[in-house]
Amino acid sequence: MPEPETILVVEDNEQNLELVEFLLDEAGIRVWKARDAEEARALLGDRPPDLVLMDMQLPGTDGLSLVAEIRSNPALTSLPIIALTAHAMRGDRERFIAGGCDGYIAKPINVASFVEEVQSALQAARTRRLGGGSA
Ligand code: MN
Repeated sequence: MPEPETILVVEDNEQNLELVEFLLDEAGIRVWKARDAEEARALLGDRPPDLVLMDMQLPGTDGLSLVAEIRSNPALTSLPIIALTAHAMRGDRERFIAGGCDGYIAKPINVASFVEEVQSALQAARTRRLGGGSA
């Protein structure tokens, strides 16, 4: 049996965190939970997860600052990060991508499509890893 894929979820809203954990757990994905940047740093210190779901509105260090911090770590430059945000304003997606995120999932979480969105982000990350040997 291969190791289950692991996703670090950084989210300060407890209800969202529980919902995301429930949905990913049902899909056979292992979930690491962090409620702020400090908890996220602690979990990233060991070995990186397969993907990070990052709430952009966090208390203290916000999501974009934490993404910048992660990207500045040579070991984590290619760690897939998907922004999780209630911001639906035009331009936000571009701002998050420019800030180092690989994708974007809007909140409130759409229970019908969430796991599929995450699976396709994991698939894209796997494809990059397999094809990115010389990149
Ligand atoms: Mn938040």
